[in-house]
Order: sequence, then structure tokens, then C-alpha cells
Amino acid sequence: MGFDGYGCIALHYTIFPLGRPQQIMDLFKEIISRKVPAKIAWEDDEVLAFHDIQPQAPVHILIVPKETISGITSARERHTVLLGKLLLVATHLAETENVAGTGFRLVINSGPEGGQTISHLHVHLLGGRPFSWPPG
Ligand code: AMP
Repeated sequence: MGFDGYGCIALHYTIFPLGRPQQIMDLFKEIISRKVPAKIAWEDDEVLAFHDIQPQAPVHILIVPKETISGITSARERHTVLLGKLLLVATHLAETENVAGTGFRLVINSGPEGGQTISHLHVHLLGGRPFSWPPG
């Protein structure tokens, strides 16, 4: 998908004079509340999973907690079970998306150098092609 795929995201950013975007809204909260559309892959009362708008692999699904947690560094001990559930949902989806047998990658980006662009904790499920190591 091309740059146009980010059309709806543009609403959620402010452009500073220096050109550095700052996220002013939690986009995934908007998806959870159905204010922004997404292709839903899985849902229960605690977790939502949806297809990435700019997939980096044939299978690219984001697994997010419905509770607002800005990133993995904001998770606390009380989130232990929820964090485990994110991984179990990811592996369940790997099976239903038929990539469990060939292999897949789960990724949590954290902070600017970790490549995190959305301030709502999410696990990337990537599959359907080989991945290199170390990652770029
Ligand atoms: P990260 O860079 O780890 O914060 O991942 C954010 C991911 O969200 C990227 O892979 C984006 O392509 C994806 N993304 C951004 N906006 C949307 C959207 N509206 N629907 C689905 N995925 C999105």
C-alpha cells in the first residue's frame, strides 16, 4: 500500500516548524472505539487485533490491549496476565493465518530508536516471508 494509506493518520499528527511530527492522539484508541476503521482479525473484551494498514509482510497484524498503555515501558506488574494474553492471541493468529508452521516474528517496538510510532502498546505479528537477523 502506498503513502495514501496514511491518509487517516494525518488527522492525528501536528507538524512542528522543524517538521518533526508529534502524535497528539492515540490512534489505536480510536480504532478500538471504532472511530477509525480497521480490518479486525480478532477481538475480546481485553484485546483487539487488526491488520496493519501498511503491511511489511504477507501477514502483518497488530495485537493491542484495549486498556490504554502507551508502550511496553509503561506496563506494570498488574499487566502481567494481559501481556501474556497479547502473546497468546498473536500465536493463535499465527495459526489461523497459516504461518505458524513456516515461522513468524513477533515485534514490540519501543521509543524513537526502537521504531515506535504509535503511543499505544502493540505487538506486531509478521509472517508469510523469511526475515533476516539482525533486524534493520
Ligand atoms: P510502530 O511503528 O511499532 O509504532 O507500529 C505502528 C504500526 O501501526 C505501523 O506498522 C503502521 O503501519 C500501523 N498503522 C498506522 N496507522 C494504522 C491504521 N490506521 N490502521 C492499521 N495500522 C496502522
